[in-house]
Amino acid sequence: MAEVLRGKAVADQIKEQMKKDIEELAKEDKVPTLAIVRLGNNPGDISYERSIIKNCDAVGIKSKVYERDEDISTQELTELIEELNGDREISGILVFRPLPKHIDEEAIRNVISPLKDVDCMHPLNLEKIFEGNMTGFAPCTPKAAMEILKYYDIPLEGKNVVVVNRSMVVGKPLVMMLLEQNATVTICHSRTKNLPEITRNADIVVVALGKAKFFDEKYFKEDSIVIDVGVSLDEDGKLSGDADYDKVSPLVDKITPVPGGVGSVTTSILLSQVVLACKNA
Ligand code: NAP
Repeated sequence: MAEVLRGKAVADQIKEQMKKDIEELAKEDKVPTLAIVRLGNNPGDISYERSIIKNCDAVGIKSKVYERDEDISTQELTELIEELNGDREISGILVFRPLPKHIDEEAIRNVISPLKDVDCMHPLNLEKIFEGNMTGFAPCTPKAAMEILKYYDIPLEGKNVVVVNRSMVVGKPLVMMLLEQNATVTICHSRTKNLPEITRNADIVVVALGKAKFFDEKYFKEDSIVIDVGVSLDEDGKLSGDADYDKVSPLVDKITPVPGGVGSVTTSILLSQVVLACKNA
């Protein structure tokens, strides 16, 4: 039976460090403050917002919600973000995505101050990751996957790691982070041929398709380590990862559960980046 790589222990460790950092900042009269920009009333966004605020309160980060109509114009949203960029009280800005279709996302990504860009939207922060500079703000999900690997002492140097995802929020930045740790990385996507053969030959497989229970036993071997980033609903309407957990966990060496794996670390990464932004201000 696989060792279950739970996210909670990882998130708790990040939170403990954050609390210490926040105490230090308090000595300089600095309070890390997150501005959350939410457009419209999507229930998913509201529930994510509640969870972020709860987590902020638990560690001592101040949060402020800027709720605007879904039909806000690109110009109006730009003005709001510029105001937050200039507000000395705000350390970090989180703009909920996906943005409404009529908004020019490219323009918004460029307007957010790179120094307050805790969700890594600005091209400059992404560029840093692609240059191998991991000292700035990283996209939260791939960073969460990396923190899990680090916490559980999973060596990366020289290991064959397969990432099944090539998006800018998950796969591409994750590949850069893995390369930085000297892993040998293969990136797969929907046009990849012989996927089971490729994943079966890897030491570590990161799956992030968003297709519940897609990966069954044929994709893995006994010593596979599976990092499951996917989150979607299965046919019974239950939250599920991309790996078919019941079939795969008896076979592989280690696996992250869904829920309770990568997703449970993501918010802690976001908040730790708010603290970093406050430190750097
Ligand atoms: P996305 O942009 O839709 O990317 C999905 C990727 O999977 C694409 O690269 C796609 O290939 C690939 N793919 C789809 N079907 C495939 C197949 N049959 N074989 C091989 N590759 C296939 O999604 P995303 O935004 O990156 O998110 C991916 C998943 O991660 C979703 O479940 C999302 O909910 C989850 N997620 C989780 C967190 C978290 O905190 N846990 C955060 C963000 C996202 P192509 O490029 O060829 O289309």
